[in-house]
Parts: sequence; structure tokens; C-alpha cells
Amino acid sequence: MRIADVEECIDHELVSAEQIDTIIRQAAARVSDDYRDKDPLLVAVLKGAVNTLAAFSQAMSIPAQMDFMSLSSYGAGVTSSGTVTVRQDLSVDVRGRHILIVEDIVDSGRTLAWLVEELKSRGAASVEVFALLSKPSRREVDVNVKYSGYEIPDEFVVGFGLDYDERFRNLDSIAVLKPSVYQGEQA
Ligand code: 5GP
Ligand code: MG
Ligand code: MG
Repeated sequence: MRIADVEECIDHELVSAEQIDTIIRQAAARVSDDYRDKDPLLVAVLKGAVNTLAAFSQAMSIPAQMDFMSLSSYGAGVTSSGTVTVRQDLSVDVRGRHILIVEDIVDSGRTLAWLVEELKSRGAASVEVFALLSKPSRREVDVNVKYSGYEIPDEFVVGFGLDYDERFRNLDSIAVLKPSVYQGEQA
């Protein structure tokens, strides 16, 4: 895949940078209220949730600790492998902590459902979720997303942390790529 210009690869924008900003600020305000006396630990799943975590944490009005986990549920392409493996674990002990998982997108819900149970089994005092995006029509596993952002249709999206083959994470909005970008890979 050769990309000269990001804009040339985009078919259409689904969520603008301004919409992302609004969603994140609203959720961060609610979370700041709800976690005022809880010393929250924000947990982000690498790499997709990095942009969301950065914006979300900066919009919070209370101090928060952050940590990262690298999980694998998708390969280089656009289809789910269906299994979750830990590539890189947290660096803090979650026992007794009030955790907010900050996610980029909930698709099948498998990754998130696995992570919520994993953190609870490690002794977290509470585990809740903020997800910037959700594809409700794709849900296979029931998972409670207390702070939910934007619902999108069943399309593969990139931007604001989300990648196609490790590219396009650096877009400031959420977009659908032109089919020619994927076809180019097979050529
Ligand atoms: P789930 O386990 O809910 O099916 O999805 C897990 C992960 O798959 C998400 O956190 C995200 O990294 C990736 N994913 C799901 N849908 C999309 C999508 O539309 N675009 C991109 N780039 N990644 C996605
Ligand atoms: Mg993710
Ligand atoms: Mg990915």
C-alpha cells in the first residue's frame, strides 16, 4: 500500500473532529463527577485507544492515573480472529482500584467483555467502560458500556487511533476508506 495523501484514501467521513471533541468532553465531565472520590485508573487498550485516552484524560477535571494493555483480536486485515491474547500487560496492581476502560470502538464486544472479566478477576473494586464508538449491529457478546459515545453503522472505519494495516491512526476524524485502498493491498 502506497499512500501519497490521506485525503485521497477517504471515501467519506463518519464522525468529524468536532463531533469527537463534543462526545469526549461530555463523557469526561460525567466521569469526573462520578469518580471524584475514587482515584480512578484509566486503562486503555493499545494502540487504537491511545488518541481517545489522550483527549479524554485531558478533558477530565480530576487527576487520573493511566495505564496500558496491548491485546490482540484483529490481525492486519479487517476481520476478527475471535480470540483475545495479551501482548503487553498493565504495569500497576488493580486490586481495590476503580477502573475506567477507555476504548476506541466496541464491535463484536469480545475484547471488551474479556477485559472487564479479567480486571474483575484481578480484584478491581469496579470496572466501567467509556467507548468512543460502537457498532451495535455487530454485537455478539453482551457488554455494559456505561459511558457510550457515537453509534456507527457496520462499516470498517479508521482514524483517531483506529488503523487499517497500522496506517490512518493519525486522522483527526473517523472515516471510511475507499475500496481501492484495500484492493491495492491484494494487487
Ligand atoms: P471487538 O472485540 O469488539 O470485535 O473489537 C475489538 C477491536 O477491533 C477494537 O478495539 C478495534 O481495535 C478493532 N476494530 C473493531 N472494529 C473496527 C473498525 O471498524 N476499524 C478498525 N480500524 N478497528 C476496528
Ligand atoms: Mg480497541
Ligand atoms: Mg487494528
